[in-house]
Amino acid sequence: MKTVFFCPKCSYVGAAEDAEVHICPKCGGALYHTGMDRDAYNTKT
Ligand SMILES: [Zn+2]
Repeated sequence: MKTVFFCPKCSYVGAAEDAEVHICPKCGGALYHTGMDRDAYNTKT
């Protein structure tokens, strides 16, 4: 299942598989796991 990840450095938000390596495609920083899937994230924001 894809879940939503957030980059605290550049505010990038994207969805990725839990098993993937979570590196920001914009700045190369570590992504923060929001714990929500994309539907839940979209509902909340
Ligand atoms: Zn970033």
